[in-house]
This record gives sequence, C-alpha cells and structure tokens, in this order.
Amino acid sequence: MNWKLNTSLTFYGGVDEIGGNKILLQDRGTKIFLDFGMSFALKKQYYSLPFLSPRSEKSLQELGILPKLEGFYRFDDRTAGVDAVFLSHAHIDHSAYISFINREIPVYCGETTKTILQVLGEMCATALEFDVEDVLFRSFRTGDSITVDGLEIEPVHVDHSVPGAYGFIIHTSNDAVVYTGDFRAHGTKPEMTSDFVGKAKEADPVAVVTEATNMTGASISSEAEVRNKLNVIVGQTSGLVLADFAYADIDRLNSFYRTAKKNGRCLAISLRQAYMLKALRKDKHLKVPSMGDESILIFRKSKKRYRKWEKQMIEEYSDKIVDVFEVSKRQREIVLAMSFYDLEELMKINPKAGSCYILSASEPFNEEMEIDFERLVNWLRHYGLPQYYAHVSGHIMPLQLKNILGEINGRKVFPVHRSMRICLLSLWET
Ligand SMILES: [Zn+2]
Ligand SMILES: [Zn+2]
Repeated sequence: MNWKLNTSLTFYGGVDEIGGNKILLQDRGTKIFLDFGMSFALKKQYYSLPFLSPRSEKSLQELGILPKLEGFYRFDDRTAGVDAVFLSHAHIDHSAYISFINREIPVYCGETTKTILQVLGEMCATALEFDVEDVLFRSFRTGDSITVDGLEIEPVHVDHSVPGAYGFIIHTSNDAVVYTGDFRAHGTKPEMTSDFVGKAKEADPVAVVTEATNMTGASISSEAEVRNKLNVIVGQTSGLVLADFAYADIDRLNSFYRTAKKNGRCLAISLRQAYMLKALRKDKHLKVPSMGDESILIFRKSKKRYRKWEKQMIEEYSDKIVDVFEVSKRQREIVLAMSFYDLEELMKINPKAGSCYILSASEPFNEEMEIDFERLVNWLRHYGLPQYYAHVSGHIMPLQLKNILGEINGRKVFPVHRSMRICLLSLWET
C-alpha cells in the first residue's frame, strides 16, 4: 500500500494465514520490518518434521518460505539494506526468522522478548531457524521512543498470551502508522491493551495494521475462568493430572501453579519450562513463580543423552527433579506438564484409574504445539484418560476489535493473521 508516495507498507507474510508476519514499512529512504516471523502454513506445504526439514536458508528462499530480499540476510555479502527490525513479541510466527538476518541490522524488542528468544536459541542450539547468536538486540520498554533515521517509533505494551508483547506507533514523514502485533482485551492485564489503544488514538493514524485471528470463531472467556475450570478438574481427580500448555505462557503457567498448590499438589514442569522460568524470573516486572517454591518440581524425561543446558539444570535443581518412576509413585500429588511429544513417558508412569489429561493450549508458539489430535486421542484412549479442554485465546475477540478499531479511528485498516475480506465487510456494515 502506497500513500503520498513517501510511505509504503509491504506484506511479506501474515496475509491469508495465521502468523508469518513480515511487514516492511518504508518511509522516504528508511526501511524497517515490523516482525519477521516463521510462516507455519508455508513451511507445512513443503516440510514434514522431523525427517523432512529445511537444511539451509537457500532451500527456504527457493521455496518462497523466506522472502527474497537484498542486503537483509547474513548470507548476503551486500551492505544492510534495511535499517531495523521491530519485534512485537516472542511467538515464533512473529520473530523466529531474525535467525537469518544480517547481524549489522539492529533488532528492537522488549526485554522479555529478547530473553525468551535467547533461551529458545540456547535450547535449540543446532536449529537452523532459532539462531539468535550475535543478533544486535536493542531492548525497549513502554514510554521509550526510538528514532531510526527520521522515523520515530513508540512501543506500547499490550496483553497477549506471552509476556513482553508490544504494539507500535510509527510516526512517519506523513502521518502515524499503528501496528497492533497480537493482542487481547480479555487477558489478565487488559489495562496494558487500553494504554496502547489510547496512545494509538492520540496519534490519529493514517493506517492501522491489526491482528485479526479470531474472526471466524470466537468464545468469551478469561484466564480467571480457565483457573476456575482447572480447579474443578484437579479437585475431582484422584490420580495423576497431565497438562499441556505453551511453555512461555506465563499466565497459564501461573494458573496451573496456583491450582496445583490450592489442591495440595506440586506442578512438575519440563526442563524447558524450568529453564525459561529461571531466565524470566530475573525480570522484576513479571510475576513468575520462584524455582525455590516447594510446589514446583522439574520432570526429567527419560532419554539417553541430555544437552548441556539440560545437564546444568539437572545438577542445579537436583532436589526438584522427578523422573517417570517418582511421578508414577506420587500420582495424586502431582500435576505434570506434558507435551504431545512426551506421551511415550506414559508407558512407565502408567497412570492410575482416576487420572486425566487437560489440553490447555492452541497458540502456535512452536511446532510442538501443532498437536496431532488423532494420535493424541489414541494415546488417551489407550490409557483410559478423560480429556478436558481449558483454554482462553491470546487474541482479541471480534466485537472488541471492532470497538477498538472504531476508537483508534485510523483512515485505513489492514487486517493480518487471517483471510479477512468477508469478515471485515460484515463488521463494518453493522
Ligand atoms: Zn501471531
Ligand atoms: Zn502471538
């Protein structure tokens, strides 16, 4: 989209798909990317993990999964042709492909986003798509104003299903452009989203690029409601409680932690979750349970070899580590965080009658979250585990979005994250 010829927006991803946001904003000679995420939909057209996975950035470019851009990537010798990248949050469909960018290009993001991406990079040390080594991170907080050439960018916090999410107000040589990133008004911190909406309105923007994930299906719920549901489920379970939730969703982790505690149980988190928690705990702005809390245990999966960071965690928290045998013995005392890829552990745990499984995720934080329902159900059926669903979306609901867009009153609206034409027409006509 071009207006007054000075300012333009180019969408390299995020249109007609959920995630993969890569939005280039050009203003006179200045170029910035708003998010640079991995597109699950595009990648799935060609790859099937783990056996058919991309080997190099060249394959990703050849297949159009990584856009062909000059002077932007680390494998391109030319000088940087893009001035900066701004990441709205750490979900990999918004951030992961900074893995490939020229290390001279600064990447601006919230402190929490930087922490999560660095932890993710450490955990997936050999992965092509999660390499953030030497990335030139520049972190910001709400209230900061960043100048890139003549562009002034204001990050303002929003509430989302991962901590450290921001929207941006970009003051271009014409007028302001607003990018919401992913956000919601029904989470645990709606006031952060209101702050953003207020600032966006004040800027009287010429364009609003908004997320619009939940347009075709929506349900009204809240984290408090999720917590109530969890409390009922855990309270009625006499055996082991198994739970699958995104490991960087701190709100959800807190909900499970509090529910476990209230019901006299411990929450056994994975080594990955524990490692993430340890890193995020350093951020005083986040309410993250302490690893020293006696209600937190760490579940060690059975495997032959552990990575370096896993070994360190096992050593450092030896008194907190539980394995399949201990979980098996202490079933009624534990809520065990378990992803789809851990289901093999059930053989040795052997859940007793009266155990259950709670699915509490649907956001694409990583590929592991793309749950294969058919196989999951087969496993649960095999062990006679009833399945519960307790989740609230990380994304704004349709009518709330309509009100917010009305309030911001941008002259143009660009919905990303979904094929939106029909839905938006119906929204505007009412
Ligand atoms: Zn997203
Ligand atoms: Zn997100």
